[in-house]
Amino acid sequence: MAGDLDTAAADQVRADDRAHVFHSWSAQAHVDAIPIAGGSGSYFWDYEGKRYLDFSSQLVNLNIGHGHPKVVQAIQEQAARLATIAPALGSDVRGEAARMIAERAPGDLDRVFFTNGGADANEHAIRMARLQTGRPTVLSAYRSYHGATGGAIALTGDPRRWANESTGQSVAHFFGPYAYRSAFHSDSEEQESERALQHLRDVVQLQGPDTIAAIIQESVVGTNGILVPPPGYLQGVRELCDEYGILLIADEVMAGFGRCGEWFAIQHWDVVPDLITFAKGVNSGYVPLGGVILGPRTYERFADRPYPGGLTYSGHPLGCAAAVASMKAFEDEGILDNVRKLGETVVEPRLQQLKDKHASVGEVRGLGMFWAIELVKDRQTREPLVPFNASGEAAAPMGAFAAACKKEGLWPFTHMNRTHVVPPCTISEDELTAGLDIIDAALDVADQHT
Ligand code: PLP
Repeated sequence: MAGDLDTAAADQVRADDRAHVFHSWSAQAHVDAIPIAGGSGSYFWDYEGKRYLDFSSQLVNLNIGHGHPKVVQAIQEQAARLATIAPALGSDVRGEAARMIAERAPGDLDRVFFTNGGADANEHAIRMARLQTGRPTVLSAYRSYHGATGGAIALTGDPRRWANESTGQSVAHFFGPYAYRSAFHSDSEEQESERALQHLRDVVQLQGPDTIAAIIQESVVGTNGILVPPPGYLQGVRELCDEYGILLIADEVMAGFGRCGEWFAIQHWDVVPDLITFAKGVNSGYVPLGGVILGPRTYERFADRPYPGGLTYSGHPLGCAAAVASMKAFEDEGILDNVRKLGETVVEPRLQQLKDKHASVGEVRGLGMFWAIELVKDRQTREPLVPFNASGEAAAPMGAFAAACKKEGLWPFTHMNRTHVVPPCTISEDELTAGLDIIDAALDVADQHT
């Protein structure tokens, strides 16, 4: 139960964790994971009486909140009936999940190749694109994250890529639009869109259009700063792809499944990609699941030739049962509407107020339940609030800001010089306001470093 004290359990979790768990992205000796006992809705809690309002949705995957009863029940019932089945055999929940995803996907995308998560979804999307086009290279944006497996980390265009050895993948990077820190010295969103498109065209031409299989693009860039594409940008990328026979892969692993107030974020711009990759919000990570959504043109390439790829757990029944239950709950409970309404009426105006009030806030941006507050030392120069170390980890004062949030019972998502406001899509107005109040107070700490 929330807030119950069980220090013996906490000690055991800590001891096992320290002795035997090797953690992601961490210097192992410095990991001090808080033992977590449970979660419900927008909250999770530890064994030592502390409850946190989850403003991170864990790794921005918990779109439906903790412990949603219908999703839990669907997993339990499926586990009792048929816990696992090989991909070559038919499964009712796999078919139902694929049909529901296809019905919600844009354009003619009507088939799903299931994976275990986001990185392997991107691996398969680029493999499909290379096989479909017969071309080797994939273009990907700097300031992108596409996952931590060999091909996906090669696509990734942030410092996490450089810490990994060369993967031998043919990938070239380009600058996407980011008006606040424009690589093109633009002074408006429109100009940023035009110049970023011209730059991408130059990269395509210099790279050799006939060698490019695909451009992969997060529909709204996630961990690299919640960068919402400016007007015309995604349409322009689509046109460029069409001109040169390049496939457009929309990475919706973080932005999809309701996070931006639509099933897929790209639906905000009426652009139909050739392939969509998804994971996280499809079932909120209650059971690992991801996938690639593809249309007839990709499907045709493999109609009479085997697709050379597969996974033991592709379309895992528990993951698919959770996805079906989650998509139904999203509709029955009006969760997309909640995201749109609270994003516009609560988050956006409050973040604008925070920007007016706090010297450390350089820019706020986002949509739906997908927002960033970018912190700076100086608003004129836009110098980021923290010097980062080589692996991109935030040092103080971002650490002090995060600690101030946690002390007051809010679990923030902080990355480099930003904090992201990414709570569950099911959050209530009161919870949202309470969390934003805590962020407001914690920004006083950040202000001291300007
Ligand atoms: N693509 C995007 C946009 C992501 O944000 C992530 C994870 O954060 C991934 C891919 C990788 O997903 P996973 O961690 O499930 O492999």
